[in-house]
Order: sequence, then structure tokens, then C-alpha cells
Amino acid sequence: MGWRSFAGARSAPSVDKAASVASPAVRLDPVADRGRWTQGSIGTTVQGRQIVRWDSRSRGATRHVTVVSGMHGNERITYPLAEAFLHTARPADMNVTIIPSLNPDGWAANTRRNARGVDLNRNFPWLWSSSKDSSGPGPGSELETQAAMNLLQTERPDLVIWIHQPLDYVAPVADCPIQYAELWANAAGIQVRPAVSHLGGGESWSARTAGLRSMLVEVTSWSTAQSLVDDHVRGFTALLPHVSVHRSK
Ligand SMILES: [Zn+2]
Repeated sequence: MGWRSFAGARSAPSVDKAASVASPAVRLDPVADRGRWTQGSIGTTVQGRQIVRWDSRSRGATRHVTVVSGMHGNERITYPLAEAFLHTARPADMNVTIIPSLNPDGWAANTRRNARGVDLNRNFPWLWSSSKDSSGPGPGSELETQAAMNLLQTERPDLVIWIHQPLDYVAPVADCPIQYAELWANAAGIQVRPAVSHLGGGESWSARTAGLRSMLVEVTSWSTAQSLVDDHVRGFTALLPHVSVHRSK
């Protein structure tokens, strides 16, 4: 999983860009350019696609935020929104990791589930249930689930942000400060919904099993409109400076 310059991200073969909204060319302003983005991989799917990671690393960083997007391949704003985050200003003392598409097979097929027909957000080992629709043959059975778990358990970021569509809320999970959700929601113009949890859900696992601060962002509607991307870029940008080191990690 060698590191490449970010230019490689533009030609990632696993992502069907034709179906996503147009994204701007890579252009980092002087503030956002502190710490250039690099591309790597956290794993490979059953169809051989890389699960890509983008990282902005800052020398002397004391904080780390990780965004997991594109878990459901039919949520078509998730990848372009993750790309838009690359162009935002970030605190100089913060590392940021973005998984633009945790489910690249599902993205290529425009399906919610992965190539094995499993809903990854029912597959995580937090109150996993075989009775849930398409939760997989066992907890954490899927390569994508395992890749996300390995990443988060190894790096233990101070905040994990899970991006979904289309339920129109921001939710702090478990003991994530509600202020984080409010900062994002207020800037994006959507509501805060407390006390969200899903059996087998990634955000529920990261908060309740892995003990990581976690929040769930559900973009409004199924639209991929640029205005929605802009709303959530504002949310991301408003939140980042306020994320503190998670002392109990
Ligand atoms: Zn989703």
C-alpha cells in the first residue's frame, strides 16, 4: 500500500465518476494546502477494488479526525462530498483521514449493499443480528467492515464522522459531544437528532464498542446538488477547529 502523491486520486479506477456530480479540479488554497493530501489503501474488496484513503498530515499534529463516506453505494452524494472536503481549510495541528468510498464495489454497481449482497451498516459487531436484512453471515464478516475496523482501532482518531444519505440530520452517537453535531448542523442548516444507534451500524460500533467519539451525518434527500455539497462542506469546516483531543483514547 505504497503512498502516492494525491494526483493519483484523480484516476482511481474503482470509482464511477460519470455518475457523480461534477467535482472541481484539485486546487488547494494556501491555507488548505498545509499538509498535502496523499492517497493510500486500507484494503481490497472481493472484486479487487482498493478501498482508498486520503490523508492530510501535519507535522506536529496533535489531533486526528477520520471521515468514513460511501458505505452505501447508492448514496451518490457521498463520494463527491468526500472529494469536496479535500478543498477545505483544516487546522494546522490536525491530521485528517478521508475514506471516500468504503464500498467501492457497491459504488460501481450503484447499490446499497456490497458485492456479496451485504449491507455493511448492519455488519459491524455491535449488537449484530442475523435477523436483520442482509446483515451478512456473521458480525464483521465483510472485507470492507474489517478494513474500517482495523483502520479505526489502529489509529484511534479523536473523532470519526460517518457520512450517509438521505435522512436529514446530524447525530452524536453515545458520548460524542452534542456540540460537535450542533456545529455541523447549524452550519449546514439541518437538524440535530440525538440518541441514534443501529444494530450492526458502523457509527454504533465505533462509539459503543471501540470507544471512539463518533457522529453520523445524514445528508438531506437523495439529491447530489452542489448546494448540498456546499452545505456540508460548511458543516465540516465549522466543526474541525473545535474537535479536541479525546483524552480517554
Ligand atoms: Zn447509508
